[in-house]
Amino acid sequence: MAFRKKFTPKRKFCRFCADKNMPLDYKRADILRDYITERGKIIARRITGTCAKHQRSLTTEIKRARQMALLFYTTVHSTDVKKKTI
Ligand SMILES: [Zn+2]
Repeated sequence: MAFRKKFTPKRKFCRFCADKNMPLDYKRADILRDYITERGKIIARRITGTCAKHQRSLTTEIKRARQMALLFYTTVHSTDVKKKTI
């Protein structure tokens, strides 16, 4: 009966729906950081499991945070990369 077992690796859920007190705000870069790659790309909804409603606002907040220099656009702006001395 093993082959009849449904393949469900890990149940994905929307973190913002699960916890109503979870702030979805550009000022909380520490939370937004979980939803971008190390190269600064926003991670797709199918990977993170965020619902459509929250993914939409998440995208807006990430873009807002980038403008406020709380997040980076690319790796070049990351603090990990040392600036070249001219
Ligand atoms: Zn949600």
